[in-house]
Amino acid sequence: MAGASPAEMSALEALDDLADEIRGMGNEPVPHRAARADGITSGHGCGHNLFGAGSVGAAIAIKRAMADQDIAGEVRLFGTPAEETVVGKVYMANAGAFDGVDATLVWHPMTETRVTNASTQAMNNFTVEFRGQAAHSAADPWNGRSALDAVEMMNYGANLMREHVQPSTRIHYVIPNAGEAPNVVPEYAKVWYYVRDTLRTNVEEHYAWLLDIADAAAQATRTEHEVSLITGVHALLLNRPLQEAMQANLEAVGGPNFPDVFQAWGREMQTGLDIDPVGLDVEVQPLALGATPAQGGSTDVAEVSWITPTVQLEITSAPKGVPWHSWATSASHGTEWAAAAADVAARVLAMTGMDLLTDPGLLEAAREAHRESTQGRPWRSPIPADQKPPIP
Ligand SMILES: [Zn+2]
Repeated sequence: MAGASPAEMSALEALDDLADEIRGMGNEPVPHRAARADGITSGHGCGHNLFGAGSVGAAIAIKRAMADQDIAGEVRLFGTPAEETVVGKVYMANAGAFDGVDATLVWHPMTETRVTNASTQAMNNFTVEFRGQAAHSAADPWNGRSALDAVEMMNYGANLMREHVQPSTRIHYVIPNAGEAPNVVPEYAKVWYYVRDTLRTNVEEHYAWLLDIADAAAQATRTEHEVSLITGVHALLLNRPLQEAMQANLEAVGGPNFPDVFQAWGREMQTGLDIDPVGLDVEVQPLALGATPAQGGSTDVAEVSWITPTVQLEITSAPKGVPWHSWATSASHGTEWAAAAADVAARVLAMTGMDLLTDPGLLEAAREAHRESTQGRPWRSPIPADQKPPIP
C-alpha cells in the first residue's frame, strides 16, 4: 500500500490474519492473474469475506421471524476470527462461548452447492524452537552447538516414523528459521509441524511421539528446545437429522442465481486455467445416504460440533474445478456477483433455524444423533484451558 509506514503495514498484515485473508493469494476480481491494484498481496482464496453477510443475514431474518410469528427462543450470532489458521473457535470454545447452545448452523463458500457430508481431520499445529551456541563454522566449530542440526535430526526422526503410522495420518513441516549464514553455527532454528488424522486419538499418540523425537534431537545435539502447541482440533462430527432438514431447505431455495456475465467470467477463467469451461456449478448436490469419506484438511468448526449438534452448508462461489486457496478463488470472491452465494446461505440458514425453533422433534433428534456420535464422551479441548490465543 503506497505511503504506509512499516508499522502501519505490520498492523494491516495482522488484520489480514484476523480477517482470514491468505498471504500471497491476492488478485484483482478479474478472470486472469492480476496483482491487486491497491498493492495488498493477500486475498480471500477461501471466501471468508462472504461469511459475515450470509450469517448476519440469517440471524436478522430469524430474529424478525421470531418476533413476527411470536416464537420463543434465542438466536446467537458468532463472528469468529482466524479461522483460516484453525485457531478462532478453538479458543472461543475454551472460553465457553458455545456452552448452552442447542444447535449450530454454519456455512462455507465452495465450488459446489451441498450440505456438508464428510468429516475432516483432527490436527495438532505446533512449533519446536531449538537453541544452541553460535561459533565460527571453520575457526572454532567445537565451541558451537547447532540448532539447525537439532531441526534436521527431528525431521529425520519424523520421516522414519512415517513408515509406522496409519495410512490416515498426515505429518507435514516447514522450517521457518534455519540459521543466517553457513559460516556461523546456527544458534537458533525453528520447525513448524502439523500432525493430522481422522481420529483424534491417533493425533495425540503421534504428537507425543514427535515430542519424544524433538527431545531426543535436543539431547543428541546438546541444544535446548521449546514446544509451542498453537492449536488443535477434533474431526468434524456430522449430524444426520440437521443435515436432512438443511438439505430440504437447500433444495427449496436452490443454488445461487448468478448472472450470465459471471458464468461467462467463470468460463474465461477456466479456459485460461486449461480446465473444463463449464462456468459455476449452481446445481444442488443430493445428500448421499451415508457420510462420504473424510476430507484432507481440518476445521475449527469441529470443536463446535463436539460441543453442540452442528451442520454445515457449502454454497458455490467460484468456478467449478479451479484450485481452492489460489489467486483464482480470491478473484472470484472479490466480484460483486459472489455475494449471491451469501444470499443463498442466509436463506437456507434462516429456514433451518426456524425449523429448529418450531420443531422440538428436530432438536431432540439432533441431540440424540449428537449423543450417539460422541458416545457420551464430553468435549475436551486439544489445547490447555488457560492458553492465550496467538494474536500477532
Ligand atoms: Zn475456509
